[in-house]
Order: sequence, then structure tokens, then C-alpha cells
Amino acid sequence: KFITFEGGDGSGKTTQVLRLAKMLREYGFDVVTTREPGGTPGADAIRHVVLSGAARDFGPNIEAVLFAAARADHLDKVIRPALEEGAIVICDRFHDSTRVYQAATKDLDLAFLDRLETATLDGVAPDLTIILDVPAELGYERAKARRSEAEADRFESDALDVHAERRERFLAIAEDEPDRCVVIDGRGEEEEIAEDIVAALEDRLGL
Ligand code: ATP
Ligand code: C5P
Ligand code: MG
Repeated sequence: KFITFEGGDGSGKTTQVLRLAKMLREYGFDVVTTREPGGTPGADAIRHVVLSGAARDFGPNIEAVLFAAARADHLDKVIRPALEEGAIVICDRFHDSTRVYQAATKDLDLAFLDRLETATLDGVAPDLTIILDVPAELGYERAKARRSEAEADRFESDALDVHAERRERFLAIAEDEPDRCVVIDGRGEEEEIAEDIVAALEDRLGL
């Protein structure tokens, strides 16, 4: 099974991915955790180029192509092989983040982004997507505390209203694809959120 975690910055994705993976392993499942952008040495290099701001001059279409290249490598080397071996793959951000972050830029060609997504995924789709939902202010405060030096450049430039708009975009994806997506309130205690996530897995995947 392929499970993705999505949501804005600081919504609690990384925290919950680690918790869920630990729990599933304790139950004896074979679990592979990975993240985007990144997940392979090549994709991590692309992550660095984009997040350090080095690709800023390229414009949104080229940024989308870079993310697609990173995702293609990640799918080839990590995600597809693990799924073929029967592992549960849990990915911290995936294609919905591209739909939200790259598509948010006004001068991006949305039809181009769609074609790029279809070509890149090449038939792979998450079985379940957990969307962690928090108010923009809360996510912003949480994420600020943990942002790494190298990535601060890009992050600090995002205003609160941008975070709020991304939240709405994630919620719109969940409305469009209710069979794949579950929205989980990310405001509570870590433990409570983890329980809600386990309930979603039982309900949607029968795990
Ligand atoms: P990013 O998009 O920036 O990678 P994220 O969605 O992965 O963020 P985390 O890194 O899991 O979010 O959490 C951000 C910060 O908030 C961390 O310092 C984490 O310890 C803390 N945190 C996570 N979940 C909760 C929670 N339920 N309550 C309070 N703090 C939390
Ligand atoms: O989730 P993580 O902290 O690894 O993401 C780092 C940053 O990557 C996010 O804050 C976001 O600005 C950026 N990002 C992006 N486009 C994506 C995925 C992430 O710009 N598709
Ligand atoms: Mg994270």
C-alpha cells in the first residue's frame, strides 16, 4: 500500500509519519518511509537546488520540471520497488504538494502541470492520502521552530496569507478526491492525531 502525508508547513506530517511507521513496524508490517522533495541522492540534490533559492530565476514551469525529475527518480529507485516487494510505503509529501505549491504561482500553466503529473506518476497513485489540516498561523509557528538554515531563504519569504491559500488548496483536493483523501484535524495533541490516523487506515485500507 502507498500512503502519502500532505498538508501545509508545520502541520505535523513528519512527526506523524515517524509515529505511524513505528507503530506499523511493531505490528510486523514491512514499512518504508520516505519524503519529497527528495528520497534519493539525485532528488535530494534537486531539493537543495530548489529550496536554497538557487533555482529562483528559472520560473515556475522549470521548477515544476525539477520537482517532476526528482519524483521520477524517487519512484524508480524507492517507491515502485518497495511497493513491488509488498511493503507499505509512507511518503512525507507527494504529488498533492506539487499541485498546491507549484500551482500556486500565478503564471504557471496548469494544463502543463497536469500533463507533467500524469507522465511522472506513470500509473502510480497513493492508496490513501492523509491531509493534516491546521490553521495557517499554527503551522507557521510550528514550522518556524524547526526550519533548517539552508531552507530558510525560501520559507521566510512566504507570507501568512500564502500559507492560508495553500491550506484551502489541500482541502479542495480532498473534496475532489474523497476516496483517496482523509482530512485530519492537526491542531490537537500528537497522540490524538495519531489515533485519528490509525482509524483512517483501518477504515480506508482495512489495516
Ligand atoms: P514541514 O512541512 O515544515 O516539514 P511538518 O508538517 O513535517 O512540517 P512537523 O515537523 O512534524 O511538521 O512539526 C512541526 C513542529 O511542530 C515540530 O517541532 C513538531 O515537534 C511540532 N509538532 C508536531 N505535531 C505537533 C502537535 N500535535 N502539537 C504540538 N506540536 C507539534
Ligand atoms: O516538508 P518539507 O519540510 O520537507 O518541505 C520543505 C519545503 O519544500 C516546504 O516548506 C515547501 O516550501 C517546499 N516544497 C515546495 N514544493 C513541493 C514540496 C515542498 O515548494 N512540491
Ligand atoms: Mg516535515
